Amino acid sequence: MSKKLLLKDAHIEGIRYFETYRKQGGYEAAEKALKMTPDEILEEVKASGLRGRGGAGFPTGMKWSFLAKPEGVPRHLVVNADESEPGTFKDRYLMEFLPHLLIEGMLISSYCLGSNTSYIYIRGEYSWIPDILEEAIEEAKAAGFLGKNILGTGFDLEIYVQRGGGAYICGEETALLESLEGKRGNPRLKPPFPAVKGLWERPTVVNNVESIAAIVPIMDITGAEYAKIGVGRSTGTKLISACGNINKPGVYEIDMTITVEEFIYSEEYCGGIPNGKKLKACIPGGSSVPIVPANLLLKTINGEPRYMNYESLADGGFATGTMMGSGGFIVLDEDQCIVEHTMTLARFYNHESCGQCTPCREGTGWMYKILKKIENGQGKMEDIDLLWDIQRKIEGNTICPLGDAAAWPVAAAIRHFRDEFEWHIKNPELSQTQNYGLANY
Ligand code: NAD
Ligand code: SF4
Repeated sequence: MSKKLLLKDAHIEGIRYFETYRKQGGYEAAEKALKMTPDEILEEVKASGLRGRGGAGFPTGMKWSFLAKPEGVPRHLVVNADESEPGTFKDRYLMEFLPHLLIEGMLISSYCLGSNTSYIYIRGEYSWIPDILEEAIEEAKAAGFLGKNILGTGFDLEIYVQRGGGAYICGEETALLESLEGKRGNPRLKPPFPAVKGLWERPTVVNNVESIAAIVPIMDITGAEYAKIGVGRSTGTKLISACGNINKPGVYEIDMTITVEEFIYSEEYCGGIPNGKKLKACIPGGSSVPIVPANLLLKTINGEPRYMNYESLADGGFATGTMMGSGGFIVLDEDQCIVEHTMTLARFYNHESCGQCTPCREGTGWMYKILKKIENGQGKMEDIDLLWDIQRKIEGNTICPLGDAAAWPVAAAIRHFRDEFEWHIKNPELSQTQNYGLANY
């Protein structure tokens, strides 16, 4: 059984309220941290090996150490709660059921980073959660864990919750900062990174909800102990939101030592595939990461079991591996049609493109139209190569990663499932009435 650090108390009734959270040892990590120096906390975070849980997996301690500290300029912590990646809903779970874990993590992190005003930027569609967070903030303030002179340390902290307007692109950290400043959420060119020039051009750390929540157990058990959980550079625990063709969709905390096979088929996690259907493919890290067929999902190209961690999932690169990403684990059974699935994602990215860069603005629309043609039985064989060319021209040629995120699913689908594209083109009448999965497995 995986060790639980974040969700260990999630089942306790009333845990979202301060009194219950405190009874379970809540805010003890913050009390401990506030007796330490910011540098000492930073060393613990570095020692933990924690990697950003939003999707990129960038080492959190390293990001914090990049924070510029010019004299007299305020710094900020911004929590990215704009969780919009299709298939990803683990931050929603944390905020809904364990809001004080996030607030406590923010208190420790803000103290370490020297931020007296920190923000939670939350996805607009999570319309019921800001009230939960604001209630938790008020409770923490009333108990002396937020506001002025926290626990007599002289440290002040205010936390504000900002609701997004429902644009996927505002989850990209610089678009988020633009939106938080009251402007249209257009991504900025990086560098400069937010750690140098972020919110209102001030040094800013932007971290995902889960990353900041993980600071609490790190302070609790120490960075060194946290680093002993997991394997290699995949330290600690990771939340996975599992969905698609599985018996038990939900949010699971894993310690990154289990195999993908165990995660899909064991009763502790996904509980297998409904109706005894065969596994066809999976997108293990949210829609932006490459889809992998079952044979490459369960085993690497060398025949080794594939594990639920950053290194193992990426083993073999984009050609045979995939990515941990945001932990949005989407399972597809034998009945699913890859062309239809890829078309749906292409429509999503086209709709969410901010339009600043030509390859993304034009390319995403073009890919969607071609995929729609193929799906509707109107495609030509050369369309497959055209699709391949377009995604190649988007990847690496845009301001923000949305372009890559739109290109990779198309590339992976063609690489691994070219036969399905060809089947749609060769069988236009069937293509319109039934999907490839049902017809061919
Ligand atoms: P990134 O690799 O550009 O950056 C990761 C983080 O490290 C950023 O905070 C960046 O500022 C920081 N960083 C990197 N190099 C730095 C440097 N030299 N100096 C200072 N800071 C530096 O990736 P990203 O754009 O933040 O994230 C992309 C990922 O987001 C994708 O892989 C995808 O999985 C994920 N994603 C998640 C969601 C979601 O809902 N959780 C939605 C869309 C995308
Ligand atoms: Fe906007 Fe797409 Fe360019 Fe990102 S890649 S800045 S979403 S046009």
